Amino acid sequence: MILLNPGPVNVSERVRKALLRPDLCHREPEFADLLQQIRTKLLTAFVPGSESEYAAIVLTGSGTAAVEAAVLSSLPTGKRVFVINNGVYGDRLSAMVGVHRLAVPELKLDWGTPPDPEKVRLALRQHPEVYTVAMVHHETTTGLLNPVKEIAEVVDSQNRVFVVDSVSGLAGDALDIAGAHIYMVAGTAGKCIQGFPGAAFVLVRKGFMERMKSYPKRSWYLHLPHYFDLEQSPSIPFTPAVQVYYAFNEALDELLEEGVANRIQRYRKAATLIRQRMSAMSLKPVLPPERQSNTITSYYVPSGLSYQTLHDGLKQRGYVIYAGQGQLASKIFRVANMGALSTQDLEGFLSAFQQVLETATVRS
Ligand SMILES: *Cc1c(COP(=O)(O)O)cnc(C)c1O
Repeated sequence: MILLNPGPVNVSERVRKALLRPDLCHREPEFADLLQQIRTKLLTAFVPGSESEYAAIVLTGSGTAAVEAAVLSSLPTGKRVFVINNGVYGDRLSAMVGVHRLAVPELKLDWGTPPDPEKVRLALRQHPEVYTVAMVHHETTTGLLNPVKEIAEVVDSQNRVFVVDSVSGLAGDALDIAGAHIYMVAGTAGKCIQGFPGAAFVLVRKGFMERMKSYPKRSWYLHLPHYFDLEQSPSIPFTPAVQVYYAFNEALDELLEEGVANRIQRYRKAATLIRQRMSAMSLKPVLPPERQSNTITSYYVPSGLSYQTLHDGLKQRGYVIYAGQGQLASKIFRVANMGALSTQDLEGFLSAFQQVLETATVRS
């Protein structure tokens, strides 16, 4: 099955085979070595030239675990989080801090609308209790790229801590983490890194990691300093998904061999192919081109068709697309081009899409 959903993604045979390596106890030096390799490769890939200034914390869990670990670990007693929300994952950030009653009113925007940095500045001036600002890099809901650099500048100028959910962004769209002074970025193995779901990570500025050690523990499983202290051993507090880590390590090798910039370029080309062909079939994208990421395009479901018809017709032919979420659930569908997809896979999908469209139009 060819997956055109935003994770889990299709992986290479090389990554899949890594799952079959020997059974391993995570308290043995072989696991410590594996973990150390993953951490080093993450820093090489995502903070090149600034590896010594960041720590990579690897967690067992989906991407949400990494995002929640970052946000909850970032807060001293009495301080609050300000969330910039323009999609389902922004909603999720708000829900995470809402559970602990640690939020101030969020900056809520229509889905597909990027935030105005000046509104963020104003909100931070009005709320001295805000310590952490949290935003999604690539809002998977619509495929919107948020202006991370501009928001990072405002957050920095107001002396707050910027935490970015780049779970669907890293290795798909460029993100200058070190250059923008971003304190923490959450990511996952199972999207543009082309590993399996089940392993996630947070890149943390080391100086901030030291500060977080004195902050209250708001979660037992997800407290980042707990992982950091043990990773120095190097060890890990809880039983990791060992086999998934084997594959994660292999996927990082593939990423570094391809080069992050080349991976991004490959995804951009794939998205361009999809967009040109969809446009020729008269499909209407939800976002204007300048806001689109390299890895997701959302389209309005053509009138007279239902998402289910599209989805089922494509699935019969071996391709999985993705529905809209929340308020857009029945109106849009999404095509992701993350993963080990060849041009042939994409061409196959596009002809299948055309077939489904024609079949459905003839029937109606
Ligand atoms: C996929 C995703 C997540 C995490 O989702 P999980 O299902 O927990 O892996 C978080 N944020 C964004 C922007 C995502 O696309």
